[in-house]
Amino acid sequence: MIQLKIGIDIDGTITHPSSCFNYMNKYLGTSIDFEMASEYELHTYTDMGQIEFWEFMVKSGHELGIYRESTPQAFVQKYLWELRQHFDLHYVTARSEIVRPVTEEWIARHELPLDSLIMTGSHDKVQVVRDLSLDLFMEDRLENALQIAEDTSIPVILFDAPYNRKALPENIIRVSSWDEAVQTIYKFAPIR
Ligand SMILES: [Mg+2]
Repeated sequence: MIQLKIGIDIDGTITHPSSCFNYMNKYLGTSIDFEMASEYELHTYTDMGQIEFWEFMVKSGHELGIYRESTPQAFVQKYLWELRQHFDLHYVTARSEIVRPVTEEWIARHELPLDSLIMTGSHDKVQVVRDLSLDLFMEDRLENALQIAEDTSIPVILFDAPYNRKALPENIIRVSSWDEAVQTIYKFAPIR
């Protein structure tokens, strides 16, 4: 039997989507209201451009900090171990290779399974979906979900967040919890 292969984003999918905003409010002096956070890109909440912002984050150590202090979504640990019994799980993140150690430490600290971690260093995840022949993807960034759904036609489960609330095509399914996400996966791939 061929196991279904699932690609799983990390930030905002395994981690709670409010994590980054909470970090910025705590350490960078912003006052972002998560429920009103309609922009995905963090630099838009500062007076810096995207490149300048991430250079600052790297140099100041806040890039590591923001990943280290992220909080997991509710029940994600339980459901990842459960899914791993039935499916091949691949974490696919836009984080760069440089932050692999802090990412692996975080995964270990929160006692999540880790079989495969792909760090693309960019938002283009379509190539990974093709290279690994993934059957399903879990994501929170709307643009990624749309690109994967359009270019590969696999179903994408989109974790609801204030910054991704737009109309979706048929093969993108919006969910608001890991419980709902896993029920959706079982509809695509019934477990006997
Ligand atoms: Mg994400």
